[in-house]
Amino acid sequence: MGGTFDPIHYGHLFAAAEAADELGLDNVIFVPTGTPPHKKYDGMASASERYDMTLLAIAENDRFEISRTETDRAGMSYTLDTLLSMRGLYPQSELFFITGVDAILDIGKWKGPFEITSLCTIAVVTRPGYDNDGLGRLPGEIRRSVRMIGTPMLDISATDIRRRVSLRHGVRYLLPEAVRAYIDKNGLYSKMDGESS
Ligand code: NAP
Repeated sequence: MGGTFDPIHYGHLFAAAEAADELGLDNVIFVPTGTPPHKKYDGMASASERYDMTLLAIAENDRFEISRTETDRAGMSYTLDTLLSMRGLYPQSELFFITGVDAILDIGKWKGPFEITSLCTIAVVTRPGYDNDGLGRLPGEIRRSVRMIGTPMLDISATDIRRRVSLRHGVRYLLPEAVRAYIDKNGLYSKMDGESS
């Protein structure tokens, strides 16, 4: 389960649980992105803060695990490198890379898109308002490796949560209470203005 998780919220957690059920997965390993190659905005939580929030968020589910592979790796966090590392750690396992459809629409610009599809099945989570039709425009070799998760993600967005925190609006019930308390205690997202990701 790859994502910047800035911050992780119930949409991600619900999607991971649905994907696990639908795909019959033994475990879901959350991989917070270390240094995202594709985005930069003011006020992004650090890799270690995003790792900590993800760790807090998954505590209640025995099937959920977390990996430091991207937060510990120097340089940009490329999904291909993460999958190669996972293949080395779990040589016998069938691998799935779970993420949001918006992210996958850009996969043609990532490092080694065709190698990625040879290493895993891409499990795509959709959300109301997402451009699912865009998947049809991906090259056939990539499209054949994509599996849509049937249940749409809850309509919760990390961008919206950051904006709400910066405006001092409540975020209770959008994300686990331990994550909300962490954001509060560490003063995350308090100084942002109208950013988007
Ligand atoms: P993003 O572009 O910030 O997210 C695109 C959309 O997908 C957002 O609406 C986001 O919702 C949603 N999303 C993100 N992760 C999700 C997840 N695990 N499940 C369901 N929805 C999710 O994407 P990102 O989070 O930075 O990156 C997604 C993954 O793609 C990461 O693993 C990243 O490393 C990988 N990636 C790799 C490369 C590369 O190798 N060159 C380039 C880009 C992305 P929220 O905003 O609510 O999270």
